[in-house]
Amino acid sequence: MRAVAVVPGNKDSLHVRGDVPEPAPGAGEAVVRVLEAGVCGTDVEIHQGLYGAAPGGSPYLVLGHENLGVVDSAPAGAAVAVGDLVVATVRRPCDEPCRPCAADQNDMCLTGRFKERGIGGLHGFMSERYSEDPRYLVRVPYSLREVAVLLEPMTIVQKGIEQALRIQERMAWDPRKAVVIGAGPVGILAAAALRLRGYEVTVAALEPEGTFKDRLLDEAGIDYVSTGRTPLADLEAKLGRVDLVFEATGSAHVVLRAMQLLGPAGVCILSSVTGGSKNLEVDVATWNREMVLGNRLVFGTVNAARRHFESGVADMAAAEERLPGWLGKLITRRLPFTDAPRALERSPEDVKTVLQFA
Ligand SMILES: [Zn+2]
Ligand SMILES: [Zn+2]
Repeated sequence: MRAVAVVPGNKDSLHVRGDVPEPAPGAGEAVVRVLEAGVCGTDVEIHQGLYGAAPGGSPYLVLGHENLGVVDSAPAGAAVAVGDLVVATVRRPCDEPCRPCAADQNDMCLTGRFKERGIGGLHGFMSERYSEDPRYLVRVPYSLREVAVLLEPMTIVQKGIEQALRIQERMAWDPRKAVVIGAGPVGILAAAALRLRGYEVTVAALEPEGTFKDRLLDEAGIDYVSTGRTPLADLEAKLGRVDLVFEATGSAHVVLRAMQLLGPAGVCILSSVTGGSKNLEVDVATWNREMVLGNRLVFGTVNAARRHFESGVADMAAAEERLPGWLGKLITRRLPFTDAPRALERSPEDVKTVLQFA
């Protein structure tokens, strides 16, 4: 069958190949026909040779972790049935397994020796078909067929917010204001999920005001601020006390500023991976004083558990009900998978590019 693959560690190795073996489902496994796969920054970085690992014995890695498919075959009595619309989770537990992995929390793995489909050690979903254990397949209603390929990035948001709310059970908390930094797919989805929970949400990002993302957010009742006009340092004066900050830019400068935006007892969610290394001069005494005297909290979050896929489905259904068609506008380009190299070229107004397999 055909698939989009890379040779991990080799720069610019993305290619479409026709010699990928058909899935050979193990006992209890389902076969899924891929409908769509989302392209994200991680895929671009793997294509650039920055990371990624092929499965043992394979010279290539089938790319893709953001996925949507239809069950083609499933064993009798499985949790999924032929015809079900499904999204697969990405991470698989480490072999030890560590305590979180043993407790079905591989998103919190302690050893780092987990595997991730399409990223490290396991083929991804940018192929015509794949096989999988049904416990890693999450059913999605057909009413979300046009947008469900956004579920995986939505789970990053779900985990971040869920963790923040759980941690904030430390106090009587009545959060009102949230700031999301970054207007990529995760940033926009985070803003939407927070808006659905009743927050007043402001997204701060580089793009000028009045452009596509600003208009899109406006439709959902979300404010947009261009950091070109209002630097993050001035945002606090403009907004007042910020209860929750969701950082989704991948920029080291911004990470520090994100923490500094927090009001008393506020929580800052760091969800973006910053590449390379960056030295910045920081007034640690002031930063620490504010953290301590304000009971402020900063934490990092990555990947997501199955329950975050399930809450993501619920949020996407709620968004579709509240604002029909809005989520679909986040998918700014759909290309046949044979055009995969073109999918990596991005324009400023792109939010999510999706490869179509069927
Ligand atoms: Zn992704
Ligand atoms: Zn583990």
